[in-house]
Amino acid sequence: MTVETLDPRTIMLMTTLMCAAMSIVMFSVYRSFRREVDGLGHWSAGLLLLVCASILFGTRGTLPDVVSLLGANASLLLGIGLSMLGTEKFYGQKPSLRFYALACVLGTAGIAWWLLVHSDFSVRVAIFSLTVFLFYARQAQLVWSHGERHFSSFFFGGLMLVQAGVVLTRGVAALLQGGVSVVDMLAAGTRASMYLAAANFMALLLTVAFMTVATRRLQTILERRSTHDPLTQVLNRRGFGDAYAREKANLRRHRRPLTLLSIDLDYFKLINDRHGHAVGDQVLAHVAMVISGALRESDCVARFGGEEFVVLMPDMAPHHALSAAERLRGLLCAPNGKGLPPCTVSIGVACQASEHEELEQLLGRADAALYLAKGNGRDRIEFDIGGLTAVKSEAVAGAAAS
Ligand code: GH3
Ligand code: MG
Ligand code: MG
Repeated sequence: MTVETLDPRTIMLMTTLMCAAMSIVMFSVYRSFRREVDGLGHWSAGLLLLVCASILFGTRGTLPDVVSLLGANASLLLGIGLSMLGTEKFYGQKPSLRFYALACVLGTAGIAWWLLVHSDFSVRVAIFSLTVFLFYARQAQLVWSHGERHFSSFFFGGLMLVQAGVVLTRGVAALLQGGVSVVDMLAAGTRASMYLAAANFMALLLTVAFMTVATRRLQTILERRSTHDPLTQVLNRRGFGDAYAREKANLRRHRRPLTLLSIDLDYFKLINDRHGHAVGDQVLAHVAMVISGALRESDCVARFGGEEFVVLMPDMAPHHALSAAERLRGLLCAPNGKGLPPCTVSIGVACQASEHEELEQLLGRADAALYLAKGNGRDRIEFDIGGLTAVKSEAVAGAAAS
C-alpha cells in the first residue's frame, strides 16, 4: 500500500472508534478499582478528551476552525495533560496541577492567536508539540524513577519516550521550517495527514500501555492480598506456607538449620476488654512491626490468626534462635512510645528436625513449647528439645558415616 492510497479519514475514524471503546474499558476499570489503583480516573478522562479531539478534527471544513481546530487542539492538550496527572497519581506523586493549568492555558492561547489573529500553521505545530513534549517527557521520567522492572513498565516508559521524541522532532522541525500558513491535515498523502493518523494510532497504544501497567499493579495487589494479613501487613498462613516451602528446598540443598518461633501475646483478651477491640488491633499491628523490624531480611513473619505470630528463621542455629527470641521478648515488653497498653509474649522455639519433617509437625512442636511457656508462667521462652535431639543425632550419624 502506498502513501497516496492511505485514506487518513478512514484511519482516523477507525482509531477514534477503537480509542473510544478502550476509554470505556478504562472507565469501567476505574469504576471497579479506583480504591486500589490511583490515577485511573485521570487516565480515562484523558482518553475521552483524546476521542473528543479526534471527532473535532473530523469536523474540519464542516464547522468553523475556531470550533474544530482550536477545540481539537485544546482537547488534546487537556487530555494528554490529564494522562500526565494520572501517571503522577499512579506512581504516588502529587499531581502538578499548576504546571498542567499553565501549560494548557498558554498552549491554547498561543494556538488561538496563531490560528485566528495571525494564521501560521508552523508556529501552531511548534507550540502544540513542545507543550505536549513536556507532558510525555514528565511521564517517561516518572516511569524511569518509579516503575518496577517489568515488561509493563518498559512498554509504558518506552512508548512515552517515543511519543516525546516524535513531538519534539515535529516541534523543532516546524520551528525551523516556519511560514507555511495553510495545510490540509486531512488530505491524503500529505506528511501532516500521515502524522495525524500516526498520532491517533499512538493514542490507541497509550490506552494499551495504561491498561498494561494498571493490570500489573492489580495483579501485585491481589497477590499481596492473598498472601498477607491486612491488619498487620505480615504474611498470612498461605504466604507463610509458600515461604516455608522455599526455605525447605534450600534446607535440602545446603543442609542449613531452620528454626521456627511461635509467639503468643499474654492475656491479650484483657487488653481488648479494658481498652477496646480497636486498641487491641493497634497493639497487634505494633507487635508485627516490632517483630519484622528486629529480624533479618531472610526471616519470615506471619500472623496465624488471633494474637499468634510465627517466625521462620532460615540458616539459624538453635542457640542463636534462642538469643533472637530473647531479644524479641525484651523489645515487645519495652514501652512502645505510642501510648499503647504494654503486653508480654510467650515464645516457643523449635528447630527443623530433618528434611523429612513437615511444616505441621514443626509447628506442632513449636506450639507445644509455647504451651509449656504459658504453663510455666508466661512472659518466657521455651525450647522444644525433641527437634534438637533429632538434629544432634543426625549430625552424629552423619559424622559416623563419613
Ligand atoms: P493467653 O495468655 O493464654 O494467650 O491469654 P489470651 O487472652 O491472650 O488468649 P485467649 O485465647 O484467651 O484470647 C485471645 C483473644 O484475642 C481473644 C480475641 O478476642 C482476641 N483477638 C483475636 N483476634 C483478634 C483481632 O484481630 N483483633 C483484636 N483486637 N483481638 C483479637
Ligand atoms: Mg494469647
Ligand atoms: Mg492465642
